Amino acid sequence: MQILSIPEKLEAKHVEIVEGEHLIGEFVGDETGATLVVFGSVHGNEAAGALALQKIAKRLPAFQKKLHGRVYFLAGNTRAVKQSVRFIDSDLNRHWTLENIKHNSPNSHITTKRAEDLEQTEILILLEKILKSAKDEVYALDLHSTSAAGVPFATVGDTLRNRDFAQKFPITILLGIEEQLDGTILEYLNNTGAVTLGYEGGQHFADSTIAAHEALVWLALVNSGILAKEDLPGFEKHTEVLRRATGKPRIVEIRYRHAITESDNFKMELGFENFQPVKRGELLAYDRKGAIKSAEKGLILMPLYQTLGEDGFFTGREVAPFWLKLSGFLRRWKIGNLMRFLPGVKRSEFDAETFEINTKIARIFPLQIFHLLGFRKRRWRGNKLVVSRRRFDTESPFVKKI
Ligand SMILES: [Zn+2]
Repeated sequence: MQILSIPEKLEAKHVEIVEGEHLIGEFVGDETGATLVVFGSVHGNEAAGALALQKIAKRLPAFQKKLHGRVYFLAGNTRAVKQSVRFIDSDLNRHWTLENIKHNSPNSHITTKRAEDLEQTEILILLEKILKSAKDEVYALDLHSTSAAGVPFATVGDTLRNRDFAQKFPITILLGIEEQLDGTILEYLNNTGAVTLGYEGGQHFADSTIAAHEALVWLALVNSGILAKEDLPGFEKHTEVLRRATGKPRIVEIRYRHAITESDNFKMELGFENFQPVKRGELLAYDRKGAIKSAEKGLILMPLYQTLGEDGFFTGREVAPFWLKLSGFLRRWKIGNLMRFLPGVKRSEFDAETFEINTKIARIFPLQIFHLLGFRKRRWRGNKLVVSRRRFDTESPFVKKI
C-alpha cells in the first residue's frame, strides 16, 4: 500500500529580488576550472530555489580561494517572483525555443516584448558572457519545486555526460523528461553543450525543499570538481540530507506525457504523489472529454494540482542498471549511427542527430530500442516517425583537447 506523507504546515515564502536583476552571486576562483551555473525560481511561485541560492551565496566567499572554477547563481523569473506567480505572460521554462531566442537575443531589434521576453534577454546576456569565457566543462542546475508532496528527484536530459554527473548524487533520476518538453532553459543549455541537471526539491514552501536544494548545490560544487571534498566541511551532512529526502535512489524513465491546454478543463484525481505506482486502466484525471485512465502499468510523475501548467501528468517506469550499462556501451560505440543503413531509415538533411523512419520499419522498433540508443524525442510526420537524440552525448564542446 502506498503511504501518503503527512503534509507539513506550509507558510508562503517570499524572496527579495529586484526585477531584472538575475545575478544572486558570482564566485570565481581559478578560472581555468569548470563552471557551475545554478538557476533558482525560474517559476516565480517556487521561492525555495532562489532562497537556497541566497543562503549559499552568503557562505561561499569564505571558500572563494579554494574554488577551482567559477560559480554563478541566477534568479530565474524575477518579474514573476515579485508577484509570487509561476509566470506572467508565458512560462519561462517553456520559453527557450529557437524562435523566442532569436526574438529576444540581446542584438535583436524587436521591441514588442512580454514579461518573459525581457527575462529571457537579460538571462541570455549573462549566459553568453559565462559560456563564451568557459575554459573547461560547464555544469548547469535548475532548482524547482512541486505543488504535490513527494520525494525530491532530478530531471535529466538523456546524454551520457548528464547521466554520469547525476549518478554522483544520492538522488532519484528521471530520465527523458527534458525531451518531452519544448523550450526548457536546461534544454537550451544542453544544446550549447553544458552538462545539465534539473531538480524538483519537494513541495513549494516546505523548509525541507530549501534544505534539499542547498545540499544539492553544495554537492554539485564537489561533483563538478570545483571544490575538493576535503575543503567542504559539511560534505557528509549534505549527502545525508539528500539521502534522507530521497530514500532509495532510483532511475526512472518517462514513457508518456499528458499535455493539456486551458480549454481542456483538466482535473487530476486527488491523492496522487510523485512516483506512486498506478495500474493499467486506473483512473487518473478528468477533462472535458471525460475520464483519463492510465494506458499502462507504471509510476505516476508530477501530477498537476494547480491551475497553471501545460503538463497534466507523466507516467514512467524504473530502469534496471543493466539497461543503463548496455545503452552506455551502445552509445559510446555510436551504434545508433548504424540505423541509417537500415532500409526505410534516412538521416535528416537538416540535423545529423535526427532520423526519419518509414512506418513499416518504425513499428518493428519497440520504444526501448530507441531509448537504448539515446533517441527519446519521437514524433510522427505524415507516415514517417521522426526520432532525435541529443548532441554532445559523450563529448563536451567546452573541454579543450590537447
Ligand atoms: Zn518549476
